[in-house]
Amino acid sequence: MENFLLTSIFYALILGLIPAFIARSKGRNFKRWYIYGTLLFIVAFVHSLFLSDHSGICCPVCKKWINENATVCKYCHTVIADYYRDHPNTPIDKHEDDDTTLL
Ligand SMILES: [Zn+2]
Repeated sequence: MENFLLTSIFYALILGLIPAFIARSKGRNFKRWYIYGTLLFIVAFVHSLFLSDHSGICCPVCKKWINENATVCKYCHTVIADYYRDHPNTPIDKHEDDDTTLL
């Protein structure tokens, strides 16, 4: 009985890595997703597959997430450097690893 419990905990700790890595690749907090994945693996796994991508920077015009090195937004075709030159006080909305949102 004790062996079964320890084995279950061991596998939960290993399986929790899967949704955590998927979520991290989409710009989410690794630690939070690891805890979520360890406690509710199948729910977190399916959830992580359907996450929208929040890695990179947020387009200042259309607010969609684009590649950090992109020069032109692929959604609204804004030239990023030109926008920040014309609006120098606009903060660059960049993904931070310690964000507080799970989604
Ligand atoms: Zn855009």
